[in-house]
Amino acid sequence: MKNNLSNIKKSKYYLDKNECIAIPTETVYGLAANAYSDTATAKVFKLKKRPKKNPLIVHYNSLKMLKQDCEINDLFNKLYKKFCPGPLTFVLKLKKNSKISKNVTNGKKTLAVRFPKKKITKKLLKKLDYPLAAPSANISSKISPVSKKDVIDEFGKKIKFILDGGNSEIGLESTIVSLINKPEILRLGGTEIIKIKKILRFNIKYSSKKKNSFPGQQRVHYSPGIPIRLNAKKAKKDEAFILIKKRKFSDKNFFYLSKNKNLKYAAKNLYKTLRMIKKKKFNSIAIEKIPNKGFGEAINDRLLRASKF
Ligand code: AMP
Ligand code: MG
Repeated sequence: MKNNLSNIKKSKYYLDKNECIAIPTETVYGLAANAYSDTATAKVFKLKKRPKKNPLIVHYNSLKMLKQDCEINDLFNKLYKKFCPGPLTFVLKLKKNSKISKNVTNGKKTLAVRFPKKKITKKLLKKLDYPLAAPSANISSKISPVSKKDVIDEFGKKIKFILDGGNSEIGLESTIVSLINKPEILRLGGTEIIKIKKILRFNIKYSSKKKNSFPGQQRVHYSPGIPIRLNAKKAKKDEAFILIKKRKFSDKNFFYLSKNKNLKYAAKNLYKTLRMIKKKKFNSIAIEKIPNKGFGEAINDRLLRASKF
């Protein structure tokens, strides 16, 4: 507890000085900076090697602070009540007098916002008088980190401080819903669409055809840097084989995301497993077919992008 307090203090010290640090969230670890500061947010893009046109998600702990930056509406209120804090990001209209740095939005009039659930990060946000812009703490287009160790893997000593919050419970990025015009899902993730539909009481679409047209929804992403073969029935010699259901015979190149087709559990293990396989120096990966429903849809989306290596 005492340690946590001093780590929160340290985090605030660096953030107040316009440095970026890594923070834990329930989805993945983020590379965080003062969202109101041009200097701090520029460092995020530089460290991640992120194209400037990819806008950042801003993390809040209080509605009061959010309302200073964004216009909210009834649909937002409904979803907020049900899913926040949690793995759901909203795209909202940016207020004219908002203090959000232009780097964050790439000059757009909209802002992506989220309320993370991780306790230690909520405590940190409470102590700050600005929200945190925080994309995933990995080099752009690579695998997202789900633990402190993963962040070290990505950045080594280039990062000033990592706030340790243990493993990310969800292990996959947030779902993004745009509430700008007609509500629509821009990215699949930690909140299942079916749950969002239940609250909104109307059909909300995720159009996979459109997904490349949004900033940051690039074709290649989450890549372990080696070829991935999807819907594989068997692994070839020397291939790592990712499975979601226990097989009768196992081999040392088998990596289970789940042993009983539990897709939520599989999602949580996805990035961890890809990173492990890469470390073990396999040259390619085969993955068995993942059912395209619930979290399976989000897993398949990531795998498809990761396979466009
Ligand atoms: P991440 O890279 O996980 O931080 O996710 C950021 C993603 O959020 C971006 O790549 C976009 O897809 C999405 N996003 C952020 N801001 C906006 C925005 N203003 N409008 C639409 N999508 C956005
Ligand atoms: Mg990312």
